[in-house]
Amino acid sequence: MAGELLQDAAALREQLRSWRRHLHAHPELSGQEEKSAAFIARELRALGYSPVERVNGTHGILVTLHVRDDAPLVALRADIDALPITEETGVEYASTNPGVMHACGHDAHAAMLLGAAALLQKHRARLKRSVRLLFQPHEESYPGGAPDMIAGGALDGVGEVFGIHISSMLPTGQLGTRVGPFMAAVNSLEIRVVGRGGHAAMPNLCIDPIVTASQIVTALQTVVSRSIAPSEPAVVSVTQFHAGTTHNVIPNEAALNGTIRTFDEGVRQTVLTRVREVAEAVARGCGAEAHVTLGPGYPVLVNDAATTERALAAARQVGIQDAQIQQLAPQGGAEDFAYYGRKAPASFVFLGAASEAKQSVYPHHHPKFNVDEDALAQGAALHAQFALGT
Ligand SMILES: [Zn+2]
Ligand SMILES: [Zn+2]
Repeated sequence: MAGELLQDAAALREQLRSWRRHLHAHPELSGQEEKSAAFIARELRALGYSPVERVNGTHGILVTLHVRDDAPLVALRADIDALPITEETGVEYASTNPGVMHACGHDAHAAMLLGAAALLQKHRARLKRSVRLLFQPHEESYPGGAPDMIAGGALDGVGEVFGIHISSMLPTGQLGTRVGPFMAAVNSLEIRVVGRGGHAAMPNLCIDPIVTASQIVTALQTVVSRSIAPSEPAVVSVTQFHAGTTHNVIPNEAALNGTIRTFDEGVRQTVLTRVREVAEAVARGCGAEAHVTLGPGYPVLVNDAATTERALAAARQVGIQDAQIQQLAPQGGAEDFAYYGRKAPASFVFLGAASEAKQSVYPHHHPKFNVDEDALAQGAALHAQFALGT
């Protein structure tokens, strides 16, 4: 039976490529996915579905393949938005929307889930539970599209959720995931250091915000190393330091920006508290003031153990051998799929689409990012197998 699913997925290769290339050529930014959503809804109708569009006022789409009422549904999720990047791949189906590019593979995600929709229609008689397909907008920027999908009923009656992210870090044919905390919680960090400016030849009459901010950058390096247990991964990175206008003026202010990544809600709260305390105390010690703004971000993505076990069983069913399954370390990137996992047991996996021969080896969010389209049929089959169970 599994062989039949793979064969059917392989027969969809041209269709999958055509869906993906259409979306790739017409990328839309987070929150603006109007044409992408209309295209996906049209294709779903052509496959015999009745998609619910504009979920909770967004460009999200929900589709339910109803087979029975007495068991929780299984949900499959794809995201559909693109990034503000000018494409440099040189492919003939490159972006026709200047400055916007599918550089994370969400075009492939939508194509794979459409492929699963086609496969599930054909194998409907084998389904032991109803299926909901989630075509989700707005993944690439906070507050994300997942909360709107959930508010719009995406997880109503759902017993578990699966998501696939294509990966240019894993060779085609491989799958990577981990049980437990998998992708980071993220918070942005902004610190405005206010001193007192003046003549650079008379620093004694000034409160130098550059010296103060420098000490804050250094002191922040102790937040993770001194306040967090060595067994807990966490990152505090200062990524911008702006101050001053010329060589003989001490400025009034300095501005620092950065990012915070954690994998546990308790660790997250400790890091946020310590960042604020350290920045404010160091500034006070210098006679300056630190105004700290900690921006909100996605929570940690946690893979449920039993659901991930079922995801791996499905992977084996579609021909991914144990030797091709990678147990990954926690990833520093963030994903709004995390929100689904807070509502229902969830599993998120990376599906390899890296190929030297096809030049799909650039990192995600790179202007030359591309995916090996051979992974599309595998992704469609995997989604369908998640729904069918093993
Ligand atoms: Zn991305
Ligand atoms: Zn992505």
